[in-house]
Amino acid sequence: MVINTNDTITAIATPNGLGAIAIVRLSGNLCLKIVSILFVSKEKKKITELKNNTMYLGFIKQKNKIIDQVFLCFFKKPCSYTGEDLIEIYCHGTLYIQNKILKLFIAHGARLASPGEFALRSFKNGKIDLIQAEALSELFKAENEEAHDRAIQNFNGKFAIFLKEIRQDLIYLNSLINVSLDFDEDNISEFNYKKFITTLVCLIKKIKRTMLGFKTNNLLKKGYSLVLVGRPNVGKSTLFNLLLKKERSIVSNISGTTINYIEEDCFIKGIKYRIVDTAGIKETNNTTNKLELQGIQKTYETISMADFILVIKDNLEQDLEKDFKISRKKQIIIIINKCDLLKKKIISNKQYILISAKYRIGLEIIKKQIKKRLNSKYHKTENIINNMRTYEGLKQVVLTLMKIKKTRKNYLTPEICSFFLREANSNLGKITKIITNDEILKQIFATFCLGK
Ligand code: GDP
Repeated sequence: MVINTNDTITAIATPNGLGAIAIVRLSGNLCLKIVSILFVSKEKKKITELKNNTMYLGFIKQKNKIIDQVFLCFFKKPCSYTGEDLIEIYCHGTLYIQNKILKLFIAHGARLASPGEFALRSFKNGKIDLIQAEALSELFKAENEEAHDRAIQNFNGKFAIFLKEIRQDLIYLNSLINVSLDFDEDNISEFNYKKFITTLVCLIKKIKRTMLGFKTNNLLKKGYSLVLVGRPNVGKSTLFNLLLKKERSIVSNISGTTINYIEEDCFIKGIKYRIVDTAGIKETNNTTNKLELQGIQKTYETISMADFILVIKDNLEQDLEKDFKISRKKQIIIIINKCDLLKKKIISNKQYILISAKYRIGLEIIKKQIKKRLNSKYHKTENIINNMRTYEGLKQVVLTLMKIKKTRKNYLTPEICSFFLREANSNLGKITKIITNDEILKQIFATFCLGK
């Protein structure tokens, strides 16, 4: 499949539908020719006089009939978003006007762009690299502040800086070998070998740390799982509804109302979570009821998959973590509910948070604690990998470097090191540059919206 980038493309760049204004884009060699036929500036400027990055008020006309009063902005190549001559028409946002201008552009030689084709041209003309293109795609999908920050960081080149550092580390490793090459075999000093291996190990760790961030990124997109567990009737469903801000789970004082688990997405302090209300597990667990047993089994499974567990109790005595088979490695927050019924006056401390789900007391403390735990558990890593392709690319780099690390000292000649370092460098290059496969490009850019 060949991607044609020689013709002139057009599309409506604003969302489909009615709006105050809409933007119709035109990019390619025929840009100026097309608008010279269809656009008349109020100041009667000739199209050849249009200046770069400048707005012009005027009319889109079909023969002598005015279609709309518009602003035209001209971005001269190569300084435009696509790297080609690019024109944007800011017209009134009725569907009729938007489509009419689009049709006129097509009638005069432009082709309707496919989704992401403007961005694809931008990439092909070296205006953005692949990482930035992918970050742009992530930016459109970002549903919360964290995901947005990540995408914007990469679009502004944070990942490019990381790759540059990795490349410099590889060059440094190479320089250490070149020094060794100047010595005869007996003189390959212990010092050089040590320094080489230490630098190599640091580099591997650095890349692996960043790769870990990929998991965080994925979790940010699909939401961390936050599981509510506890005995029946302690107020799990009440808290679940409170966190969701809607009556999703049935609240009842009849024990065992939630025999299946219920899950819903929600945002807590800007982060997406998948909250699960589980079936309560009774103290005497000798039920033979098949449904109840299935519910209990499902609760155990859900706990084992959870990123965060809210253990809800309605008194201080219950010790549930063992009963509920909760691993100590999990992020557990203990909550004592129904504080309104407590006779003894106690306050929240490091071990537990005191709340009343029914009377909406203590919810803010829970939210703050979740955010705090999240920061300590996941956000220490550099979360700049946005997609599987980049992740796989870095994995290849690490695997190649590991080959050097695993080679026994006696066999590790400078030539072998040099060979693998070159391979690692080439793998690194593939992440941003050496991609010639049009299929891959199409796939990446097809996730963009029309007009982008
Ligand atoms: P679950 O079985 O753990 O999901 O518990 P529910 O959320 O269904 O609540 C069981 C009962 O406890 C209901 O009658 C709730 O109204 C009540 N309840 C929940 N939270 C509180 C609270 O903070 N204080 C008091 N007094 N009752 C509560």
